[in-house]
Amino acid sequence: MKNLFGLTLAELETELKDLPKFRAKQIAAHIYKHGLKSFDEMNDLPKVLRIELAERYEIKAAELLKRLDSADGLTTKFLLGLADGAAIEVVLMRHDYGDSVCISSQVGCQMGCKFCASTLKGLERNLTAAEMLGEIFFVNEVLGKVVDSIVVMGTGEPLMNYDELIKMLRLLHEDYCLGLSYRKVTISTCGIVPAIKKLRDEKIPVTLSISLHAPDDNLRSALMPINSAFGLKSLLAAGDDYAQSTGRRVTYEYILLGGVNDTEEHARRLAKILSGQLANVNLIPFNPIVERTFSPPTNHAVKKFFHFLNTHGINATIRKEMGADVNAACGQLKANWK
Ligand code: SAH
Repeated sequence: MKNLFGLTLAELETELKDLPKFRAKQIAAHIYKHGLKSFDEMNDLPKVLRIELAERYEIKAAELLKRLDSADGLTTKFLLGLADGAAIEVVLMRHDYGDSVCISSQVGCQMGCKFCASTLKGLERNLTAAEMLGEIFFVNEVLGKVVDSIVVMGTGEPLMNYDELIKMLRLLHEDYCLGLSYRKVTISTCGIVPAIKKLRDEKIPVTLSISLHAPDDNLRSALMPINSAFGLKSLLAAGDDYAQSTGRRVTYEYILLGGVNDTEEHARRLAKILSGQLANVNLIPFNPIVERTFSPPTNHAVKKFFHFLNTHGINATIRKEMGADVNAACGQLKANWK
């Protein structure tokens, strides 16, 4: 049975071409604005049509496999099952500034970052636009309202699934869907430079977050294999260009790994390479995972690093650790599933 969830209005019109055009619009509103999953509830459609539609189509997002709530009630992690049996993680974070959902963009990941659990078994497949949208709709349903912000920072490298990602974002923005402002969306990338340039030209002003994690090429290549393809110089130029073109500050994520990249010398080099950029640094104390050998930084090292950046012209924040008790770092829930 064909699934209508995730189709754009144009695609619905094509699919339902035997019906008058306004029907596709009505159905799109029912699916996206009203969150209906059964044709029978679509009161403004004739009864026979509802029956016919239900015989040919379904409206299906994702199915809940497992839910974990953090003890403080602020973080909820969902493991969702997809039509082909694959499982993905979605995280809801209730911040004081609003509710945020962190979605996955791929099943598994091929990027091979040495500190990350999502990449341990490689890439299984890309998610479709419908599946990514389904993650957001799932969380909206749990909340009983539309989330305040969306971060594409879960499992996978969103810019390696570029076309479906852009399709999903454009659909979210449509009036017949959620009419969501692009400014509420953040895309996090390990640094696929040509795709950052392409994204700049889409004219969708999403916030870009770049996972930097090291202030020089040697260390970055050791931690993140992608750096051998696109080195720091080209990555920082692409980030700067994105910020200048969109007027939106780029966030550089920097995981602090105890004894690896967390000394004052690293902070000094980081401040140097980012000087003059329209940028923020978000420091993330490493979230230990069993399969990886790194250690978290000491509290003292985190504070010193943070202080150094902020007193040397770089606007830095420390990411508040959320949901450590529900394995909230990427890939950790799934890695422990089954
Ligand atoms: N591929 C994208 C998005 C997914 S990773 C990217 O690289 O940005 C999302 C963020 O979580 C990245 O900044 C990543 O480096 C970080 N991360 C991965 N494993 C982590 C861990 N064990 N502890 C803390 N942060 C981690």
